[in-house]
Amino acid sequence: MFMNRLSIKGGYGEHGRSCFLLPLNPLCAPQNGSLPVQHLKGAPQAQEERYYMLDCGIMDTDPDPYPQVDPDLLARTEYLFLSHCHKDHSGAFEEFVRRGFRGWLVTTQPTLDFSGIQWEKTIILENPKGDGTDEKHLDGGLSFSYGMTGHCAGSVWFHFHDPFGSVLYTGDYQRDALAYRTDPIEGRTADLAIMDCAHVKEMGDADSLRGKMTRTVGRWVKDGRKVLMPLPKYGRGLEVICMLRKSLPHARIAADRNMINLILKTLAYPQWLKPEALREIQAFLEEKPEQRLGSGSYHILLLGDTHLENPESRPLACGLSDQGAAVLLTGRVKKGCLTERLLAEGKAVTMAYPHHQSRGDFLKMAGQNDFRIMLPFHNPEKEIFWGRPESQLK
Ligand SMILES: [Zn+2]
Ligand SMILES: [Zn+2]
Repeated sequence: MFMNRLSIKGGYGEHGRSCFLLPLNPLCAPQNGSLPVQHLKGAPQAQEERYYMLDCGIMDTDPDPYPQVDPDLLARTEYLFLSHCHKDHSGAFEEFVRRGFRGWLVTTQPTLDFSGIQWEKTIILENPKGDGTDEKHLDGGLSFSYGMTGHCAGSVWFHFHDPFGSVLYTGDYQRDALAYRTDPIEGRTADLAIMDCAHVKEMGDADSLRGKMTRTVGRWVKDGRKVLMPLPKYGRGLEVICMLRKSLPHARIAADRNMINLILKTLAYPQWLKPEALREIQAFLEEKPEQRLGSGSYHILLLGDTHLENPESRPLACGLSDQGAAVLLTGRVKKGCLTERLLAEGKAVTMAYPHHQSRGDFLKMAGQNDFRIMLPFHNPEKEIFWGRPESQLK
């Protein structure tokens, strides 16, 4: 049975803190948080228990944001694979080093750059070639292929073959992204698949979720209301620009300096963007969106400050909202922040941007691959599917 090998340290039953631990050799015993179990037989014996880890995220809304991994286990973690730069996948790195991690970090250049992580023992992956067939081999009997996930620059999925079998980890994945390229996960076989299902209550695909959002924004603009969208670092901002320009071509879009800087940093890695999106984003920058903010001549304002924490965005957001602007939140709401207050006062609305998989996307992926055990992650549910999920869902 395969599940006895997986130790879940975060990201399952919660929206954030992603961290999964898998053994590299047969001496490894299940740790706290691992799911029920049989004993492994027949695998070759090794001298020392070693592990590999998938992501090391934090839950920044939690007073103790870190995944609970014993220092002893961290010291025996040979490889740490980072799927992408977002804090809910990378934020615990320095703390893990403080607690004893000394292994190899395996990730892409944009992830390293955007997360600010510096680590001597880093294996930097070249840009994926597109079909995910390029196999890398590491010491310890671990090999893997990888591809782009459509989530942000540098974001990758991994398909591992270790001495026990195969594991597919999607990271944060959206096949039908507008701005970012995706190497589709299809036709793959794995004993265990840990799969993004962040929009677990949503059956619609990316186009239908985006359609809902642009209809709402379009109504506000038609009613003469300004629309304020606070957006996170790296990722969703470029998606939202492509979405708005495509669906609401007459809406004037402004952006603050933070947002512009985030866009420019992503443009340093154009290989991760779709060519048509690259042209769209460059055309957007040529319209001088920051000047529109200065003159107030805009319909939609994008702020590169997802929780409205920056001292300069707070008065701007409060002023606009007092004048009747609609505030549209597209991600998690952090406790104690201005976004939470605006939401409580009925001045803000939350809508999911399809930057992850919905339940419908998850089911589609399940149908396009041959996965024995499927673990949907990045949501508050705790589900596990043994074979075809459709037959196990009500
Ligand atoms: Zn992410
Ligand atoms: Zn995430």
